[in-house]
Parts: sequence; C-alpha cells; structure tokens
Amino acid sequence: MGGTFDPIHHGHLVAASEVASQFHLDEVVFVPTGQPWQKSHKLVSPAEDRYLMTVIATASNPQFSVSRIDIDRGGKTYTIDTLRDLRAEHRDADLFFITGADALSQILTWHDAAELVSLAHFIGVTRPGHVLADPGLPAGAVSLVEVPALAISSTDCRARVAQGDPVWYLVPDGVVRYIDKKQLYRNDR
Ligand code: ATP
Ligand code: MG
Repeated sequence: MGGTFDPIHHGHLVAASEVASQFHLDEVVFVPTGQPWQKSHKLVSPAEDRYLMTVIATASNPQFSVSRIDIDRGGKTYTIDTLRDLRAEHRDADLFFITGADALSQILTWHDAAELVSLAHFIGVTRPGHVLADPGLPAGAVSLVEVPALAISSTDCRARVAQGDPVWYLVPDGVVRYIDKKQLYRNDR
C-alpha cells in the first residue's frame, strides 16, 4: 500500500485490512513515499517521521509491515520503481498495489500503464463520498474497492493539529503521541 502517510490514519488501516480480507492477501506492506512527485509543491514532513509513524501504527498487526524502499532510493518516487524493487524482493509473490482511487488514476495516466499492470494487480480504494472514477484500463488489471472507512484524511488531521484540535481516535494512539513529541504540523502549511 503506497501513500504519503503524513500522518497515517485509521482510514489507511481500515482500507488495508479490508483489501487484505477481500483479496485474501498474506501480507500488506506499507510503502511511504520518498519525495512525492504529486505533492512536491507542498511541504511534506520528513520521510523519517512518516516512516516511523507508519511503523508505530502497524506494529501490532502481524500481517502488516513497512518498507523503506521508496525512502531509501532517494529522489522522487515513481510507482514503476516501487513495483520493480518489490518484485525483485518478492520473486514468487502475487503483487497487489493498493492506493487511493484518486492517486491510482494519476499513476496510470502518467506512467507506462502496460508495464505497471504487468508488475502488479492494482486496487483503488475510495473513501465514502468519493466517486469511483474509472481509470480506463484493461479489464481485470484494476479493481476498485469502496472501503467502509471513516471520512478521515491526512489533510484534515494536519489541519486539526495546527488548530489545536484533537486527533485522538482518528490516528492510532502512538501516532498522536509521536506527532506531539516531534511537534509535527504545528505551523500552518
Ligand atoms: P492527504 O490528505 O495529505 O492527501 P490522504 O489522507 O489522502 O492524505 P495519503 O497518504 O495520500 O493520505 O493516502 C494514500 C492513499 O490512501 C491515498 O491514495 C488515499 O486516497 C487513500 N486514502 C486516504 N484516506 C482514506 C480513507 N479514509 N479511506 C480509504 N482510502 C483512503
Ligand atoms: Mg490524498
């Protein structure tokens, strides 16, 4: 599951859990982006903070793990590199790339869709109220899943912290404490 995870929240975790169940996945690997090219115009928290929050949020679930591949590669993150590296690490696995339906249509528009869909099956998850856009791809290459998750976004979580509003129960407890400890999102961005 790819994402910025700035911060990771319960929407991401419910989405991962739901897709793992529906698609009978053995494991969900959360892959925080390096420098997200779609978001390079905005300030994004340091990769190390986003990585650690993702580890904290997923640590108690034996089915969840976190990969540093996009962070350690350096430079901007392109999904094609993520998938090539994951494929090299997991030769015999069936790979499923999970991301938001919004991000999915961008990824498949900007990159070589034929190579992407040869590397993984794509699953676009959407939160309540977001329309399931058809990315216009070969049938069978992409699945869209509406996750019965909460209407939580990282943007809202950051805004709440900046305003001094609580994010308890929107993000895992350890992530609330990490945000506080590192004083993340304090300044209006
Ligand atoms: P931001 O508000 O900064 O864009 P985000 O909440 O969308 O953050 P990302 O890190 O961009 O979080 O999330 C990775 C993917 O997970 C995105 O493509 C997004 O659409 C999807 N996602 C985010 N929140 C939810 C949710 N509540 N339910 C289902 N999918 C979600
Ligand atoms: Mg987003």
